[in-house]
Amino acid sequence: MEAILQRLRSLRISVTPQRLAILGALESRRDHPTAEQIYEQVRREMPAISFNTVYKTLEIFCQKGLIVKVNPLHEVARYDVQTHHHTHLICRGCHLIVDLDWPEAPLPEPPGVLSQDFRIEHQSLIYWGLCPRCRETRISKEDA
Ligand SMILES: [Zn+2]
Ligand SMILES: [Zn+2]
Repeated sequence: MEAILQRLRSLRISVTPQRLAILGALESRRDHPTAEQIYEQVRREMPAISFNTVYKTLEIFCQKGLIVKVNPLHEVARYDVQTHHHTHLICRGCHLIVDLDWPEAPLPEPPGVLSQDFRIEHQSLIYWGLCPRCRETRISKEDA
């Protein structure tokens, strides 16, 4: 708890009970939840909280670098409380996003970036495919 407060203060995010609850909800899961899922979770302990507050708070957290948005599917934003470099496995069937802990994953600097004077803030490595459940469904469909 003290660590969370310090983290928020060091990022100059003012601390409110709502923000603490939202951060707590994010920390409690590793499935890269949507704003809607965080809202549903926080609402259980804070019935008066609005979706708008949750959504805006998540956006502030993103801007401050407390969380990152994982949005490769161009649908609803998914939020990731793990901001350190990690690899994602994404199922194109059910949109499951799994963290792969691979600190030594190679992330080459793309050519031309330095000449463009572009400052890279975040890099990510994504592997797309089908999760075991979706593979199974697909195989049984193909059999039918
Ligand atoms: Zn799947
Ligand atoms: Zn992740």
